[in-house]
Amino acid sequence: MQGNGPDGGEQKLDEEDEWQLYASAGYASAETVTEVEEAEEIDKEEWFDGDDLEVNGAPIDWDAPPCPAPLGVAHIIKMGTCDYCLHRVAGRRTKARGAEGGREIREDAHARDPGIAKFGAPELCPLCEDLFDDTGNIVSRVIESTKGIEYGTIQFGIHLPKDLVQDEDKIRSRHGAPASRPLKAAFADAIQEQLSKHMPDIEFVKEKPDLMILVDGLTLRIDIDVRPVFLYGRYRKLSREIPQTRWPCRACRGRAQGCESCQGTGLQYPDSVQDLVGEPIRAILQAEDTSFHGMGREDIDVRCLGSGRPFVLEVKNPQLRKANLVELVAAVNDSSSGRVEIDQLDWTDRKRIGRIKETRSDKSYTIRFRVDDIPEEETVKEAISGLSGVVLEQNTPKRVSHRRAAKTRKRKVVSISDVIVDGDEVQSTLRCEAGTYIKELIHSDEGRTVPSVSGVLDRECEVLWLDVEEIHAD
Ligand SMILES: [Zn+2]
Ligand SMILES: [Zn+2]
Repeated sequence: MQGNGPDGGEQKLDEEDEWQLYASAGYASAETVTEVEEAEEIDKEEWFDGDDLEVNGAPIDWDAPPCPAPLGVAHIIKMGTCDYCLHRVAGRRTKARGAEGGREIREDAHARDPGIAKFGAPELCPLCEDLFDDTGNIVSRVIESTKGIEYGTIQFGIHLPKDLVQDEDKIRSRHGAPASRPLKAAFADAIQEQLSKHMPDIEFVKEKPDLMILVDGLTLRIDIDVRPVFLYGRYRKLSREIPQTRWPCRACRGRAQGCESCQGTGLQYPDSVQDLVGEPIRAILQAEDTSFHGMGREDIDVRCLGSGRPFVLEVKNPQLRKANLVELVAAVNDSSSGRVEIDQLDWTDRKRIGRIKETRSDKSYTIRFRVDDIPEEETVKEAISGLSGVVLEQNTPKRVSHRRAAKTRKRKVVSISDVIVDGDEVQSTLRCEAGTYIKELIHSDEGRTVPSVSGVLDRECEVLWLDVEEIHAD
């Protein structure tokens, strides 16, 4: 049996932690990059181009006072500002909000100075280029594209053309009332306000949403990103034939259609803890796929017993996210035919993955091995018990050296007990520090682990089986 990580030892995965890359390549950071670029552009640019900036055929009067002064309000009306923008930059108290509030302000201004009324209906609002007219359209498309998805919270990301954002900022900071709402934020507000009339139970959040909705203000394209859900649990692996996570087929390297040797699955092993736990849950939550994050892992041929190994299951693109956890546990146990068991699941978040990856906990094992030309029972027991409490020096084992840098690690054998000699076989219980290579502690890996059972007995030892009895986490 080919070895996978150390024998039940605590290991970081070899692969880059994909979730971290995913997290930092996420949507929110893309937004941030855009904001930074915009800010730099403004710094570099000679943006105050004075009387050259024309709106609706008339030069902007840069000498007008800013809102909320009546002359300032009159000025932005003359510029052709729409009712939405009028409301957000005029700095006036109104009974209504949004466009309706803007109409109140416009009517007040007309009453004060009938001359303003001749400017009539705006052609193209210089502050938003009539972006707010699209609000209803966007709202109905959001409603359409989120049908059938279960969610409670939404976060919006708005992408607007850079020059629109820059021009708006110039006009608003010069003519708008202090602390007027910027275009992007105001547009998000307008969408959310209309959307909540259709979906009164939805909450709009600034982080950790169920749905991330990206709106492109230029093309009006909307992208819906259903954020993953995370489940924490502990698994027992009762089979010596399944790896913890999916292994791509060696022959075809896991290509989508697979090959003859993997019978079209693309997998070296048809089952894994990842899929035995993840697949039933993926099906119930109508999700796309899963990622499995274990607190270390055991070899394929090593069972993991006791209270099991902690893990976080990431369920990607779930259409449902409010499942009954007791039912999820039952679905996993029912479908795994006793190969994998879980007792409990809890909802958690992405941060938990980092925490379980960092946790270093002792583990207890039972191991059985054969000794060549075995000495007297008492000699065997004494020699093996003498290793209790020692610190091992373990050079990177041969079997993992293709994946790991060669180095020497020191790991403590916390205790060895219950040594039983049965013919030429020995069985024993041991507790070791996180990251100890257990099989190597027995057979010495050709002297790469010192001391070892093989060393102290001066005999060849062959490991028959190994069980993780307990992971002393939490
Ligand atoms: Zn406008
Ligand atoms: Zn294959």
